[in-house]
Amino acid sequence: MKKITTIAGDGIGKEVMEAGMIVLESLDLNYDFIESKAGYECFQKCGTTIPEETLKNARKSSATLFGAIDSTPGEKSPIITLRKELEVFANLRPIKSFEGVNSLFKNVDFLIVRENTEGLYSQIESFEKSENGKVTKSIAKRIITQKASMKICEFAYKKAIENKKKKITCVHKANVLKKTDGIFKDSFYNIINKYSQENPQIIANDYYIDATAMYLITKPQEFEVIVTSNLYGDILSDEGAGLIGGLGLSPSANIGDKNGLFEPVHGSAPDIEGKGLANPVAMVLSISMMLEFLKEEYYANKINLAVENVLKKGKTITPDLGGTSKTMDVAISIKDELEKLI
Ligand code: ATP
Repeated sequence: MKKITTIAGDGIGKEVMEAGMIVLESLDLNYDFIESKAGYECFQKCGTTIPEETLKNARKSSATLFGAIDSTPGEKSPIITLRKELEVFANLRPIKSFEGVNSLFKNVDFLIVRENTEGLYSQIESFEKSENGKVTKSIAKRIITQKASMKICEFAYKKAIENKKKKITCVHKANVLKKTDGIFKDSFYNIINKYSQENPQIIANDYYIDATAMYLITKPQEFEVIVTSNLYGDILSDEGAGLIGGLGLSPSANIGDKNGLFEPVHGSAPDIEGKGLANPVAMVLSISMMLEFLKEEYYANKINLAVENVLKKGKTITPDLGGTSKTMDVAISIKDELEKLI
């Protein structure tokens, strides 16, 4: 039987995973779920933040579902390790407003495509020290290659076509980071030129990252697909989540040529951990993205619809959206709604 690796992690990662599994296991699917460990608690028990066995499970699975982890200072990040191991080069973060949710903006619907393997997440950092051993300088290398830039821009372009979008925006800071972001921007226009005759309906433009941060809160409805490098994508997707009602509603997919890794955008949220306050919607929507990747589009669409209906009714929602329901109550009402739709 095909396998899905699940890694709940720490904090609310465990709570939203349990909630998500209620929805996932209610579907008539033929997958084995392999529970695997990673994160801070895992480090305390087994001396590593991500055991080899977890990586092995993820490699041999059709997809991996990830909750969230507490960071462990000085140790490698499980999520960055998994992204590298599974070679999932594209991080997709849809930002879509929901009817019934009290949010800053309505009718927002865009997709952030974030490069996932390089940029400032290359994690190549060093110190320079004075003669007496004092740290005087710290350096982070930001690697941008033409190969990865072309690959992510082409992927984003194809996503735009597939999702019937009409506009694609490249976000960079090539006026300052002339060499690194210069390559990214040039790669983008290379891809546009390659496909423009086939797809005359697609409008391509580019903005600086700072201007984009402003446009997202002045005219977010104008965006359809954003393609950008690693750290800019991370920051813009949290801003995007803020536009539509917060991190509790933002799913993500990490896609590679062979593998897929799915996770809510939020972290382990230590401030609300263990209280049943975590919104499970981001996790449930990440499950929907996973099912789409696994070609189970029927169930993926039904999950999206069930979430939309529950949010529209507004009766069973967690405190981040102004409600009083607990994590599990929301999961159960999504599962009940789903059963009505199938
Ligand atoms: P990381 O760096 O690990 O991604 P972060 O710094 O972005 O983490 P989060 O852990 O995502 O931080 O939490 C940011 C804020 O959003 C916190 O106040 C947290 O309580 C809230 N939050 C995050 N996820 C949820 C959720 N699913 N439901 C409700 N509130 C959430």
